Formats: sequence, C-alpha cells, structure tokens
Amino acid sequence: MLERIRASGPRHRLDIGDPDLPPPPELLEALGRARDFRYGPPEGLPEFREAVAEVFGVEPGEVAAVAGGRLGLAALMWKFRRERLLTPRPFYPGYLEIAEVFGIGLGFVETGVGWLPNFSERGVYVVNYPNNPTGVVLPRAKVRELVDVASFVISDEIYRDIVFAEFTSPAELSSSAAVVYSFSKVFSIPGLRIGAVVGPRDVVKEVAKFNKATVNVPPTPVQRAVAEVIHILPRRRAEVSRAYAERARLAAEALKLKFVEPGGAFYIFPEVGDGDKCFEEALKRGVSVLPGGLYGLKSHVRIALVEEAPRLAEAFKALNEACAGGP
Ligand code: PMP
Repeated sequence: MLERIRASGPRHRLDIGDPDLPPPPELLEALGRARDFRYGPPEGLPEFREAVAEVFGVEPGEVAAVAGGRLGLAALMWKFRRERLLTPRPFYPGYLEIAEVFGIGLGFVETGVGWLPNFSERGVYVVNYPNNPTGVVLPRAKVRELVDVASFVISDEIYRDIVFAEFTSPAELSSSAAVVYSFSKVFSIPGLRIGAVVGPRDVVKEVAKFNKATVNVPPTPVQRAVAEVIHILPRRRAEVSRAYAERARLAAEALKLKFVEPGGAFYIFPEVGDGDKCFEEALKRGVSVLPGGLYGLKSHVRIALVEEAPRLAEAFKALNEACAGGP
C-alpha cells in the first residue's frame, strides 16, 4: 500500500500518522548533549523512569521504558497471549500485525453510534483512546463499563497528549490496567523510538523481560534527553492539542464527508461508501489517504491531518471531488 502511494508521488501525504509539527527545540538540544552511548538496564534508565512516573503520578517501579509504543504493545500482548484478547473495531492495524507474528488470537468488539463499543464479553482488552483511526475518546461511563467487564486493560494511550475532549484513562478507574505511552506523537519523534509502559509492578517486570529478549536496551541517549526536558510536556501538550484541534475544525467545515467529530489524536474516519474507491480516486487527484479496510471497515477512509491548514484546505477540495459521492 505504502509503496503504491510512494510510486504515485502524491502532493498531499495524509496517509501514515507521521506528525508534521516540528519537534520541540529543547529536546533537540538535549539530544545533542546526550553523548553517552553505553548499554543501560532493560527496564530503562532510572532518570527516565522517574520522569515518566512523575507525569503519571506513580512510582518509578511502575514504569518500564520501551523502544516505541509498538514494543510496549507487543510486550503486553505477549504477556497476555494465553487469555482472550479483544479489541474494538475499527482497530489500529498494529494489533493485528503483533497478534499474527506471535500466533495470538484477537477477537473484535463491534462499535455503534459515535464509535462507542459495547463492552460485554469478559477478556483482556486492547483499547486505544484517543483513537486511531476515528479520533474519538470514550465518555467516563463507557470506561467504567470497560473496566467492569475486563480482566485486564491494555490501554494504548499513544495520543493521550493530543486531546480536545475530556479523557479518562482506564488506569484511573482500575488497577488491572497498563498504559502504553509514547513520545512519538507529542514530540513528533516517531523515528527516535521511545515510549513507556506504566502499570502494575509485575506487569512492568514482564515488559522488562520482553525488552531483554528483543531490543534489550531501549535507546539510552533518547531516554536521557526526554528525562531532561520532561518539564516542557504540559506546554507542548497544549500546543499540539490546539494545532490538531484547529485542523479537525477545518475538516468539519470544508469536507463534504460524514464523520464523527474527533476528541483527540489527528485523524478523521469518514464514511465514503467504498473506501478502496475513494483511496484510488483521491490518489489520482494527488491526495493519499488510507482505505478503511486496513482498520477493519471497508466503507470508510482514514485521513491523517498532518499538514498545515492552507495545504489541508487544498487537499480537502480534492477529497470532496474524489469521495463525496458516497452516502
Ligand atoms: N498505537 C497506535 C494507535 C498508533 O497509532 C501508533 C503509531 N502510529 C502506535 C501505537 C505506535 O507508535 P510508536 O511505536 O511510534 O510509539
């Protein structure tokens, strides 16, 4: 799919979720100073664990560093591989990729109005709010419903810092939950591969074990740099949330496609009738989006709002021509 897109050389790349806002200069400066390249512990450097623990209001022993949220997800899905693993549809394709390489079964929970899932089956849930691909967050009552039925919640909160509606983490309502966190999106550094798992100590130990068997040591210079500039997080959170919220507002105004208003992240997931056709027609007009089939729903497309407003406005015009013939 991505090769197809690259070969066609679209003017607007609204497909993968690569944030376009520049990384914070303080972080780049701290990275320049982080010149110690030795191995570190599999659970992460003490200063990194302390910094993340402070953000989450937990103890450092409840934090493990991971080489990107993806590795945290892999570690947790591996830990719960023998349980009934469930995730709402539409889903982040990474869950399916991880389940496939590990030979883990993954069940899907259907969603209704506003992309709200019906949590009734007992099991270990992998949930992601603010959500990729829909951008929605769950109301607190739904999060309560989730923790009441789940034996454990793996809460993928990669977008928790990009939020414009009230957000409740399952970890606030239950101790049977672990948060997968990442600096990829909030700091616009997906290539640096740094994130964390925040959860019960026994779960965190299993993540360190998984690290040891795979990456062994999450990148230490990045851990040092992030720990040094962690104080900028509240300001950065406000800045990126404002920027992406504005783009979502623009989409609501300019796009002639029907979609649920996002409460966070930087995606919208409009219904277009035939997602594959919309993808093809948009690509012909120089705009790449991703067909909803990748997320388990062929009738939709995912649009990543990763360009400045004037360029987005131009892309939306093309999308209206290409895809607005749907329902
Ligand atoms: N979860 C979700 C829902 C994502 O969208 C992404 C990245 N696109 C990830 C996890 C993984 O992010 P990373 O490994 O860069 O932290």
